Amino acid sequence: MVVVIYHREAHHLAAQVRAAHPDLEILACVTAPEAAARLGEAEVLLAAGGLQLPEGSPPHLRWVQTLAAGVDRLVDTLPPGVVLTRGHSLHNAAMAEHCLGRILAHTLNLRQALANQAGRRWQHYPVERLAGKTLGIAGMGVIGGAIARRARAFELRVLGWRRSGRRARYVEQVFGPEGLYDFLVACDFVVILLPLTPETRGRFGTREFEAMKPGAVLMNLGRGPVVREDELVAGLRSGRPAHALLDVFEEEPLPLSSPLWELPNVTITPHCAGGTTTAAALELFLANLDRFRAGRPLVGRVDRTRGY
Ligand code: NDP
Repeated sequence: MVVVIYHREAHHLAAQVRAAHPDLEILACVTAPEAAARLGEAEVLLAAGGLQLPEGSPPHLRWVQTLAAGVDRLVDTLPPGVVLTRGHSLHNAAMAEHCLGRILAHTLNLRQALANQAGRRWQHYPVERLAGKTLGIAGMGVIGGAIARRARAFELRVLGWRRSGRRARYVEQVFGPEGLYDFLVACDFVVILLPLTPETRGRFGTREFEAMKPGAVLMNLGRGPVVREDELVAGLRSGRPAHALLDVFEEEPLPLSSPLWELPNVTITPHCAGGTTTAAALELFLANLDRFRAGRPLVGRVDRTRGY
């Protein structure tokens, strides 16, 4: 069996995989063109996030393990018979720290602190308390679970919204699809952690922003096109939502011409909320490789018809 590894540390990963599975042929590729050139031989592909597969189906490919948590870029390009697994839980800590860090920076008004410091001004400014506020997680999956657990330590009340409506630990109430507006009106912060699928594309627009509590903050850490950006700009201009903390955008990099850059109630980061270690990625891949070879269910298998 031929395994292609596409990763900036592909040679290190290949050595570890070879040690565990000496009978496999492991091909290490550091660049995308190298990986594309070897894909024709691959039965298994381990790929860092962001790999665009070339048109046409690699003839022997049976399983792709991506290290990204979201698979929107891959799900349409892979032939339906290929098993796809995602970076399940790999990004939980980075995403949870990013989410709570940004909420705290917002309530502690650090933007004002930095502006004051730049102007050498010793001046008090308003701050808010987090304790007792309600955090809503739209897309209450594994990353949402990692956020909820940490949010409880800040005495936040946590609500969730998900397709199945299934209950979740540390979450007071989880709403199903039909409960979206009851969910939105109850939250001081709404963090979007939805995968990009045909159902979620454009799911958040004017109607959803107007359903949010006055003064509520929207954070999008999932995928940009889940939010209709032109409607978000219009909403922000009229204060619904009051502020947006954004990591993902309809078009990335965010074009220079985007009005989002100029709005005073927007905070932008360049799609950097996630992150994992090579060791964690290797652990997931080796566990799944054992399972794949034994014909057992894989961790993080994507349902190709649902798209996540
Ligand atoms: P999960 O699959 O564990 O969670 C996704 C959640 O979305 C599930 O709870 C699912 O519901 C819910 N969902 C899916 N479709 C719908 C729908 N139509 N309506 C309501 N809820 C829906 O994924 P993760 O938590 O691991 O990751 C979430 C997303 O975060 C990724 O898909 C990716 O796009 C994004 N991400 C962004 C990063 C960044 O750097 N900004 C880094 C990592 C991830 P149910 O459980 O009921 O099926």
